[in-house]
Amino acid sequence: MSSLTFLIIALSCVSAVGFVLAIIFYWRLKQVKAIFKDISYTIAGEEIPIIKILDVLKSMKHDLVSKYEEAIRSRENMRAIIQNINDGIIILDRSGKVLMDNSAAREIFGINEETEGKKLVEVIDNYDLLDFADKNLKSFSRDSEEITILYPKKRYVKCDAITVTLSEDEEVLIILMKDVTKERELDAMRREFISNVSHELKTPLTSIHGYAETLLNDDFSDVEMTRHFLSIIEAESARMSRLISDLLDLQKMEEGKTTFNFEETSIAEVVRYVSRIVKPLSESLGVNVSISCDTEATVNGDFDRLVQAVLNLTDNAIKYTSQKEKGEKHVHLSCEVDDEECTLSIKDTGPGIPEKAIPRLFDRFYRVDKARSRKVGGTGLGLSIVKMIVDKHNGRIEVSSEEGKGTEFKIHLPLIKERSDNA
Ligand code: ADP
Repeated sequence: MSSLTFLIIALSCVSAVGFVLAIIFYWRLKQVKAIFKDISYTIAGEEIPIIKILDVLKSMKHDLVSKYEEAIRSRENMRAIIQNINDGIIILDRSGKVLMDNSAAREIFGINEETEGKKLVEVIDNYDLLDFADKNLKSFSRDSEEITILYPKKRYVKCDAITVTLSEDEEVLIILMKDVTKERELDAMRREFISNVSHELKTPLTSIHGYAETLLNDDFSDVEMTRHFLSIIEAESARMSRLISDLLDLQKMEEGKTTFNFEETSIAEVVRYVSRIVKPLSESLGVNVSISCDTEATVNGDFDRLVQAVLNLTDNAIKYTSQKEKGEKHVHLSCEVDDEECTLSIKDTGPGIPEKAIPRLFDRFYRVDKARSRKVGGTGLGLSIVKMIVDKHNGRIEVSSEEGKGTEFKIHLPLIKERSDNA
């Protein structure tokens, strides 16, 4: 074959290959054009030049990024709002996974770990709440229930379930939790208080009614018995009226309606005053009362209220000591002063108080020995009043006792400090 023939064949081959490639390229180009046409219709609703498609895509990317950032921001804002709500909040998706919760909810249930994305059952072990969430995830309705939590501490929590449809396929269950422990405890205290007051009033009233009825059916021939019955009626009605005035006193102090006239008050003066008042009682009950209080110390106090507190304690000391069958019957009032405070002590040689009774001693209506308290005309409110008065003076009260040996109450009051520029 001549070289010319070879050249012609080679050129033909190259042209054929070039032709095929051109067809493929043309076909591909048509496909790419069709794709760009599709894209331009999708993003702009009409056919636009390829160069513009890029611009539109760029601005779409920018929009998407700012929408994404906005979504993140509003989620963070929502989280901040929920975190600052005092009631507990847990938001669940329909499968029971935690989407969000707040610190109040975590505190109520003692949750320390990360909760988001976990099933509620993985982070909370309170059966009542899980049951409540489960029921509401199934029914997806509004519901309300009070549950009791024992761990980390006993609480009563009112739960409300709220369902919210965010979009066609996105629904969430919000559980709102309000801690109602204080309200429940107050309810219980109120119930206990009413039952105590009713009981306290019923006893003297029954006795007054009984003796009055007996007297009405009597011909009063037995003067001694008549006097005895009348003296019981008098004592019981006096106790009842003491009870009511103690109650009113306590209530007024608690509500802050009692005015305390705070002024420079001499502690020795309070002690001397009380010892004079109790003299007739101690003599009639055969209890010896002594005092040792030579201090010049003064406190910022209400004289009458301090007398009331020391008198209640001294009155108790004399009355309970007088109940002792044998042994020395002695009550000693004393004062001690150090740099910071003044301590008033009321010490007796009475029957003493069992150790286990001491923590409840200042509770209203608490009595160690009911019969003994009734015998001395007690109302069960004296020590609560003392405690309240001491608290109002920014002081504290403590008690130490040994059964069969005696009791000592100590009132600690802050001293009035002399200002250095006056010294
Ligand atoms: P009450 O009116 O019954 O005396 P208080 O509140 O004054 O009520 O005292 C509560 C209880 O504390 C009394 O019932 C009594 O059992 C006990 N108590 C108080 N002071 C003494 C005391 N000095 N010695 C023995 N028991 C006391």
